[in-house]
Amino acid sequence: MAEKWEFTRETPRRIAIYGKAGIGKSITSGHLSAALAGMGEKVMQVGCDPKRDSVALLCHEIMPTILEQFKMVDAETDEPVEMSEELLDKVIFKGFNDVVCCEAGGPRPGIGCAGRGVLVAIQLLEDYNILQKYDVSFAIYDVLGDVVCGGFAQPMRAGNAKEIYLVTCGEPLTLYITNEIFKAVKRINGEGVEVGVAGLIDNQRMIAHEAEIVEAFAERVGVPVIEHVPRSVKVQEAEAEGKTVMEAFPDSDQAKVYRSLAKKVLENKYVYLPDPLSGMDEILQLAKEYIGK
Ligand code: ADP
Ligand code: MG
Repeated sequence: MAEKWEFTRETPRRIAIYGKAGIGKSITSGHLSAALAGMGEKVMQVGCDPKRDSVALLCHEIMPTILEQFKMVDAETDEPVEMSEELLDKVIFKGFNDVVCCEAGGPRPGIGCAGRGVLVAIQLLEDYNILQKYDVSFAIYDVLGDVVCGGFAQPMRAGNAKEIYLVTCGEPLTLYITNEIFKAVKRINGEGVEVGVAGLIDNQRMIAHEAEIVEAFAERVGVPVIEHVPRSVKVQEAEAEGKTVMEAFPDSDQAKVYRSLAKKVLENKYVYLPDPLSGMDEILQLAKEYIGK
């Protein structure tokens, strides 16, 4: 049985959204931020993926990043250079529903370590007390989870986020990456950091028996499924307008799903220490039970 406990409530509350590249972390984070803000929270979203498109729909365009704007990391020493509160303020933006938006950014492909960039950017937000300065009550870190190296693990460390949500779907490769992130959470928790998994968000690819596969996986590892989010053409239609569904189609069924997700996240009190599966073999075995049913 996975261990369960009530996490320490803090203001601002910080959560991290992890998952495989392309699974829908930024879409989910952006819609969750917009929905939480609509419920009265003062939300900040921090993009922690070199893809740097986390807050694009909230801001209606791709925004300059902390790293890129100031070429902040010295290539030789890896230390931040030339930073000041005024400069940092220039890469913090107000998006839809007054969500406070920022992108960590990353080095140019092939140069430097993306994880290191995320680590430096998050540390700067803390050093300059940005969450307090903008009176944030709820911070969402949108983090690439294909590699959970030092930088990408940073949102879980140093008390940045006690609650981790994983965006997943019923495809075995995605469940494999999800399972690897569980292993990382377990390892970091084992080092004495108060971090646990709050649950899975099933961002569906609409494969056969998807909800059943994700539920079965969740039960095996001992964490809840917070929401099954259907794949919806409304997401693409809104995206084409550079907006979230919350802004473009607030009365749509998809917007209702995101409001339901936001309500559950807001009311959540518990996190779990997952019991990961051994690896791909076990995941394929689990999926096989549903294939061809
Ligand atoms: P990630 O941040 O995990 O790399 P994104 O959030 O950018 O992935 O999602 C990738 C693309 O998948 C989006 O640009 C969007 O078009 C599509 N997408 C994600 N979730 C949904 C959904 N629920 N319905 C329809 N399209 C989706
Ligand atoms: Mg993303």
